[in-house]
Amino acid sequence: MEDQTLFRTHGAGTLRPEHAEEKVILSGWVHRRRDLGGLIFIDVRDRSGIVQIVVHPEQADAFQVAETLRNEYVIRIEGKVVRRAEETVNPDLPTGEVEVIAWAIDILNTAQTPPFSPAEHKEIDEKMRLRYRYLDLRRSAMQNILILRHQVTQAIRRFLSEHDFVEVETPMLTKSTPEGARDFLVPSRLKPGSFYALPQSPQIYKQLLMVAGLERYFQVARCFRDEDLRADRQPEFTQIDIEMSFMPLHAFQDLIETMMQEVTAMVTGVHVPHPFPRISYTEAMDRYGSDKPDTRFGLEIVDVSETVKDSPFQVFRQAIATGGVVRLIRVPDGAGRISRKDVGALEETAKAHGAKGLAWLKIEGGTLSGPLAKFISEDELGRLREVAGVSDGDMLFFGADQKDVVRQALGAVRLALRDLLGLVFPGQFQFLWVTDFPLLEYDPTEKRYVAVHHPFTRPKEEDRHKLMTDPLSVRAEAYDLVLNGYEIGGGSLRIYRREEQDAMFRLLGLSEEEVAEKFGFFVEAFEYGAPPHGGIALGLDRIIAILAGRSNLRDVIAFPKTQSGTDLMMDAPGRVRPEQLAELGISVRTN
Ligand code: ASP
Repeated sequence: MEDQTLFRTHGAGTLRPEHAEEKVILSGWVHRRRDLGGLIFIDVRDRSGIVQIVVHPEQADAFQVAETLRNEYVIRIEGKVVRRAEETVNPDLPTGEVEVIAWAIDILNTAQTPPFSPAEHKEIDEKMRLRYRYLDLRRSAMQNILILRHQVTQAIRRFLSEHDFVEVETPMLTKSTPEGARDFLVPSRLKPGSFYALPQSPQIYKQLLMVAGLERYFQVARCFRDEDLRADRQPEFTQIDIEMSFMPLHAFQDLIETMMQEVTAMVTGVHVPHPFPRISYTEAMDRYGSDKPDTRFGLEIVDVSETVKDSPFQVFRQAIATGGVVRLIRVPDGAGRISRKDVGALEETAKAHGAKGLAWLKIEGGTLSGPLAKFISEDELGRLREVAGVSDGDMLFFGADQKDVVRQALGAVRLALRDLLGLVFPGQFQFLWVTDFPLLEYDPTEKRYVAVHHPFTRPKEEDRHKLMTDPLSVRAEAYDLVLNGYEIGGGSLRIYRREEQDAMFRLLGLSEEEVAEKFGFFVEAFEYGAPPHGGIALGLDRIIAILAGRSNLRDVIAFPKTQSGTDLMMDAPGRVRPEQLAELGISVRTN
């Protein structure tokens, strides 16, 4: 018997024909066991993969142990690698050309019958997976994602370090940062009645690091936002947070593009060309009905207001007369591909996004059909041909309403058509910058302007003169990075002069006392020589999910929370002892 303290000489998944006749020691889990009367076969699994172990009855001790093994027992095996006979080679396993003839098996630990087996390929209920996450993470698909995530993080760290960025950790216990979401609060024991906030982002710290002269900063930063969770959100998530000084925007964007190009190639093998396309917010909204357009397919939205302004169709005339627009999506060859039932579903989509309906028109063999058919004259069709390239076999969907409603509704219809017609394919990666976002929007409930990005974003130089007279028309030096219709990052150039930051706070309706209380230290810092700076934050979870082809963000996070913000394994959040609350000076209302 070999040295008992030696757990392994090889990874189970690494064995190949060149190891034939070698003595090996393996340790891992019983993935599957098959008892063929005379022989016992065990698939043993470790992080590197699976290999088949064969136990012959002549090896009496090992055989006796093998008979008692059950799935997920942890075992140690000593044996010899042999080539499998040609007819027993398993082409589905990387180790399928060999097996290990065992002469000693030790049980390192037993296991209950697991609620689901890591060897199963069937869909397992997600609640169950999250409740027993450590079993879920035994599955190779899950391990591969975690390993991939590690590799991506390493690649990003390496890339940024090579470009002179310094990784700095900023505090978790901090004060509210203005990213616009609700804060997670942490009560202070030493200062009863006072609370820390968990960072929604390291925004203020990273800007202060620029004032400090670090010039290039990054952090793999955990951020916390207490929002009502949508399907693709987590209350805590990871950002690649970046800030730099003295760098022109184009050079900064080029750097981010190069990094994303490397990451994409590493994960998917796909080479994405750069520079990435840039599109203004207004153009994105007009052409795609979204500020994070999926540009992997066409079906762009076309304005036909001018063409149909005298239409006999009252809805069109009315929309235009009241300052609205008429726009359409042309689906080439859609007439034969979209059924009545599909139209019903698309109509529902439009309505769910604010439209009153969805007018449509089919052009087949020169004949028009659909609710609009009787309103469209030959002449009008001719002009639609010109403006929107309409031709025989097409199907058209119209939106007629105020501009924002039409953008929203047709944007959603466009994505529904993508899914209905299967217009995108795995392996397509379309990056795109969306720029020139509005600086401000009006919040009718709070009756004041709020920053679209955050209050530290610099207005565009050429719009600055409109700040007091027409603030809503001022564009920001802000940019989002979009991949396949998802926002994967966002950032801006920052205000770096005190008087401008003060003016911005005033515009946002903050009183001098509020500014002093919340951001006094921050604007003060600007008085000590703040350099021109800017940055970005990239959503690591989302990036990995898209590149790895996972639709579920939870699949790329080791221990994620459910949609209601619960950790099903730990059962967090949970109650705490009354003494803990007393120490914090907190009493909990039960009604
Ligand atoms: N702090 C911003 C965010 O988390 C990103 C940035 O402006 O760098 O969205």
